[in-house]
Amino acid sequence: MEDRGGRGDGGVRGDGGVRGGRDECRREGAGGAGSVDVVVVGGGAAGLNAALVLARARRRVLVVDGGRPRNAPARQVHGFVSRDGMPPAELVAVGRREVEHYGGRVVADEVRVVRRADHVPLGPDAAAGGFEAELTGSVVRARRVIAATGLRDALPDLPGLRERWARDVLHCPYCHGWEVRDQRLGVLGWRPEAVHQALLVRRLSDDVVFFAQDGRDLDAPGRAKLAASGVRIVHGEVSGLVVEDDRLRGVRMADGTVVGRSALFVPPEFVPNDALLTGLGCRRDDNGLVRVDANGRTSVPGVWAVGNVVDPRAFVVAAAAAGAKAAVAVNADLVEADLAEDGLHVVEGAR
Ligand SMILES: Cc1cc2nc3c(=O)[nH]c(=O)nc-3n(C[C@H](O)[C@H](O)[C@H](O)COP(=O)(O)OP(=O)(O)OC[C@H]3O[C@@H](n4cnc5c(N)ncnc54)[C@H](O)[C@@H]3O)c2cc1C
Repeated sequence: MEDRGGRGDGGVRGDGGVRGGRDECRREGAGGAGSVDVVVVGGGAAGLNAALVLARARRRVLVVDGGRPRNAPARQVHGFVSRDGMPPAELVAVGRREVEHYGGRVVADEVRVVRRADHVPLGPDAAAGGFEAELTGSVVRARRVIAATGLRDALPDLPGLRERWARDVLHCPYCHGWEVRDQRLGVLGWRPEAVHQALLVRRLSDDVVFFAQDGRDLDAPGRAKLAASGVRIVHGEVSGLVVEDDRLRGVRMADGTVVGRSALFVPPEFVPNDALLTGLGCRRDDNGLVRVDANGRTSVPGVWAVGNVVDPRAFVVAAAAAGAKAAVAVNADLVEADLAEDGLHVVEGAR
């Protein structure tokens, strides 16, 4: 069997562009950029860790990244052992360098659509069939796809909230709770999970207010838990935030009163960036998330999905781990595909 080595330049230019076109793909053969073993869509922790493992397994891997990791507005990453306190941009910059060190390629671009391309010849070493990923002005052909496209945090429509996001409007007690410990904290009760969040936040401070928003989504058991935990419930509608000297000072109520707070926790609604996956026909589970197995395999053969796009609660370290696990599964899948292509038919019982 020929060496399918993953160290070729993949045909991706150093300036971030990808050469495209079917003819060029054929011309470049195994090292061609238009044709890779695996295209990873999304270059956050999940996608980069998948690419790192695949590149080290000598797979030709291309990461296409739109450059908007979910935690970009945050100053630091917390809760990732050995990386605690690292700025998010630095974490992905280090990850990109590590992928490139092993011959993987990372380009700044958006994948607009991924199509099945069973009819497309993928080059001399390609498995039968594959995928076409359409970038801005170019097309990449890949034997396998890993989607690591993350999610969007939808927030309530409250004036000034988005501007304070990841500063003193926070969502994750594990990510940023320590930094606001012992302060006057609030939790906005706009979604059912806000009660649970308030119970977590209560561990950080003795002074926690739950803004009940006229009791919306606050049932009797929730009310009892908050009371038992010493969380103060404030009734009435929240109308905005009070910000002075670039710091949150309080939460303004519709009746004009201000409840002094220095940080407000708001559970976002998670909106997965999964259009590429559903466009390929990937099935969703009962929670509306694209369904994957323990290694990120979707219902569509050849397509994996990892990180926040399928697991909204995955921290950076968990997203990275999911990427690594999927890479191992994809590499194993390709090893079998390589054998099948080479005409090896395992006799039943000889396994
Ligand atoms: C404000 C904030 C702070 C956080 N702080 C922490 C923390 O301290 N510690 C922690 O563990 N977790 C933290 N998190 C959670 C953390 O952001 C996620 O765990 C992590 O980003 C998930 O990684 P991911 O690779 O799945 O997705 P992301 O990091 O979001 O990466 C997805 C990437 O895919 C790209 N992309 C999407 N669609 C396409 C496309 N079609 N084509 C090309 N590229 C595409 C995006 O541009 C993005 O770069 C925080 C979250 C938020 C919102």
